[in-house]
Amino acid sequence: MNIFDNPVNVLSVIDEPAAENNLDFSEPDHGGGNEFDALKDAKIMMIDDEPSTIEILQLFLEDSGYKHFIKTSDSAAAFGVVLKERPDVVLLDLMMPQVSGFEILIQLRADKLLKHIPVIVLTSSTDANTKLKALELGANDFLAKPVDASELALRLRNTLAAKAYQDRLAFYDPLTGLHNRRTFMDQVDWSLLNAKRASKSCAILQINIDRFKQVNDTLGPRVGDALLREVAKKLDLCIKGCEFLVGSNGEMSRVGVCRVGGDEFTVLLSEISREDDAAHVARRILSTMAQRFNPEGHESFISASVGIAVYPNDGDETNTLIKHANVAISHAKKRGGNTYEFYATNINKRSADRLNLANQLRKALDRDEMRLYYQPKIDIKTGQIIGAEALMRWLHPSRGLISPDIFIPMAEDMGMINALGDWALQIACNQSKVWQLAGLGDLRVAVNVSGQQFHHAKVVKSLERIIQSTGLDPRFLELELTESMIMENAAENIAALQSLKEMGFTLAIDDFGTGYSSLSYLTEFPVDVLKIDRSFVKDIPVRSNDMAIVTAIVAMARSLNLGIVAEGVETEEQLAFLVGLGCEYFQGYLFSKPVPAAEFIALLNAETFSPEFVMPNLSLA
Ligand code: C2E
Ligand code: CA
Ligand code: CA
Repeated sequence: MNIFDNPVNVLSVIDEPAAENNLDFSEPDHGGGNEFDALKDAKIMMIDDEPSTIEILQLFLEDSGYKHFIKTSDSAAAFGVVLKERPDVVLLDLMMPQVSGFEILIQLRADKLLKHIPVIVLTSSTDANTKLKALELGANDFLAKPVDASELALRLRNTLAAKAYQDRLAFYDPLTGLHNRRTFMDQVDWSLLNAKRASKSCAILQINIDRFKQVNDTLGPRVGDALLREVAKKLDLCIKGCEFLVGSNGEMSRVGVCRVGGDEFTVLLSEISREDDAAHVARRILSTMAQRFNPEGHESFISASVGIAVYPNDGDETNTLIKHANVAISHAKKRGGNTYEFYATNINKRSADRLNLANQLRKALDRDEMRLYYQPKIDIKTGQIIGAEALMRWLHPSRGLISPDIFIPMAEDMGMINALGDWALQIACNQSKVWQLAGLGDLRVAVNVSGQQFHHAKVVKSLERIIQSTGLDPRFLELELTESMIMENAAENIAALQSLKEMGFTLAIDDFGTGYSSLSYLTEFPVDVLKIDRSFVKDIPVRSNDMAIVTAIVAMARSLNLGIVAEGVETEEQLAFLVGLGCEYFQGYLFSKPVPAAEFIALLNAETFSPEFVMPNLSLA
């Protein structure tokens, strides 16, 4: 590998985290050009109390092709200038009034951020002891005054080359060419220092690929590595495009991507004017990650989770900020990934909101705030509605309709799910009976049963009571049980399912494909219907992986003689693909959203779902 292909990064890793991040992922250029040319971009600092010496050094160095110089004759201020400028190398005069070169050297070597900067000392002394002392204090090389131009050029070149090589090893990730964890930590230290000094804000974004392990396990580590390289490249481009980030002094925020672990990347925003800047970058990262990837020819679609921690709100120390960004990321993951989360602000606000909402949920049933909506299921061969899934809604007095995705998990945490679940069963059975009495045909109403309800043998008792009180024929009630909850205790659940089956209910496995069903169990479960999870339907026809899974599920369900319902069907393309596989029953916005009972009747009476209407261009085999 050519270690000089990337001079600015190699030499100024800490100094220029992003604005000049010239990561070049292409193969290094082996033809022509001097391999040391790249070093000429180095930032050279000269500290000497005699301005004339500095002038001469600069002339010599310019002759050799160097371009970037920082100069000071004020030895007392020198350390501060090094700290601010972070040069790639320091040429340091040893004999100066006020503060000597020795003292500056000691200071540099004691500083966490500066101790690796190479120092070449200049001395007119022929005294061997002086040189020895300088080397002992950590000087990398020395030059005798008066300086000889060619010796200066050679010693400087060698020192920079050694530094470049070390930096490559120490500061870069060999797989992606991005900065590594150590550099990231240094960059954060550095940004915090500046932010504190200038009373400004900065942010770190922690990025994690969702379900990366799955890619690695299924496609193998070579494809996994290729994917990481592609992600690195796209993230780097995405971040370079974030030029809208201008700090209060009109300077661009320095941004840069690092790879800090397996599938963990980070971005540092060294200056932001408001938290929304970080959110904006996070959204761009998410949309970048939603693009198509093609590692080693395997078309892949992935997503990521982003956790954000902001200085000063979320911590004023590197470790704390990183820890908090990680907490934020775990919240993003809990929400299913493909999203970003801030650490403190939102989390605190959310837990307060949650507490408030939970208290109100306790009273919701008594206050008659729960509603049951019905989403039709269609038989595509006839275009007829064959049933409905009953879906709960909470009509909150001030917030309006609240989604079950919010209040069902809450009810489960609060031990309220049995009460809510019984309510849903009761209302659905009443409704179903009303439809039966009205002669609306063989409509089967499906009700979702939560894991907690199912594991409490109580649901059997509730069902017996409800069936008795409504007089509903149990075959008109379908129970939707999620795949993961059945699988949790598969062997024991077979008996429980059997008893529900014997009572005459239809049993469906919900969210199929998201759990870990082993096929051998599937043949033993007394279930009637598989519902293909919406997440697989959603990206038809874009994601070939999902389409392959759906194809396999349908084939398997057919061979086991199970009914198949595809849920979440929104487009004609999805429908056409699924019909092609032999799927017969459908549920989704293409036909209707979940609606109140009165509107459901209107749907029953309309001719909306004739196959010709739904699929004018499809011929049904
Ligand atoms: P689920 O059982 O997977 O229900 C299907 C969800 O997909 C419903 O969301 C439905 O409105 C939505 N959906 C259907 N077709 C489409 C479509 O074409 N596009 C999109 N984007 N979404 C579609 P909903 O009503 O928000 O319910 C969410 C979850 O809450 C349900 O997921 C279920 O797990 C739970 N839930 C709802 N009602 C009950 C209940 O009475 N008891 C229990 N235990 N859980 C319930
Ligand atoms: Ca369901
Ligand atoms: Ca589902």
